[in-house]
Amino acid sequence: MNVTTHVLPDVLHAMVATIAANADEVTALDQAIGDGDHVYNLQRGLQALLQQQEELLSLEWGACLQKIGMTLMSTVGGASGSLYGTLFLALSKALHGRDLDLPVFAEIFSVAVVAVKQRGKADVGEKTMLDVYIPVADYLNQAQHLPLTSVLTQVQAVAASGVEATRDMLATKGRASFLGERSRGHIDAGAKTAQLMITALAQVLLQTSATPA
Ligand code: ADP
Ligand code: MG
Repeated sequence: MNVTTHVLPDVLHAMVATIAANADEVTALDQAIGDGDHVYNLQRGLQALLQQQEELLSLEWGACLQKIGMTLMSTVGGASGSLYGTLFLALSKALHGRDLDLPVFAEIFSVAVVAVKQRGKADVGEKTMLDVYIPVADYLNQAQHLPLTSVLTQVQAVAASGVEATRDMLATKGRASFLGERSRGHIDAGAKTAQLMITALAQVLLQTSATPA
């Protein structure tokens, strides 16, 4: 299944809805080991994308992903803003003008996650959003030949276990690292929002793939 940018309004609305529904919980997580602004930062970025959605869906994926990256870079702020920006700019660059299907997405998502790792000088196991992105990228690469519907279902479980794994980790990057051992016992806020957004994306794509065009 090739996915076009016409899916974007549904994806954006699903992401906005799930972040709003979980805002208090995520803010409590960021207050426990960060400064509590993560949801606010992310919502500012999502609202900016909502404002641009007409323009975004008129673009090819390469230009669309680039615009998303630049918008997130300039609106989100915090540590997460430059990381989201890096993710989407790297997705755009790695796409090389191809259509977007599962094998291509698996490939470019892995490249983009490496760019985020380099940008934040972080890796799996450091209690960040990468503890969701890295296992999701690994899963997509080994699952790219499976039926799309099973991948879209299973990836939600992979993201959920990634976020849960952050609970007992020692934070060694970002604000949470200032707490040292006291960072253990709390889920990372950026990992939680990554899981919420990946789940929203997978659910919209599941509905889209169930509805013949
Ligand atoms: P800030 O920490 O500047 O207030 P946010 O609250 O918006 O920014 O985002 C915090 C989230 O960013 C963390 O929960 C973590 O998931 C992620 N994060 C922070 N530093 C890094 C890093 N170096 N690499 C990857 N993710 C990071
Ligand atoms: Mg914060």
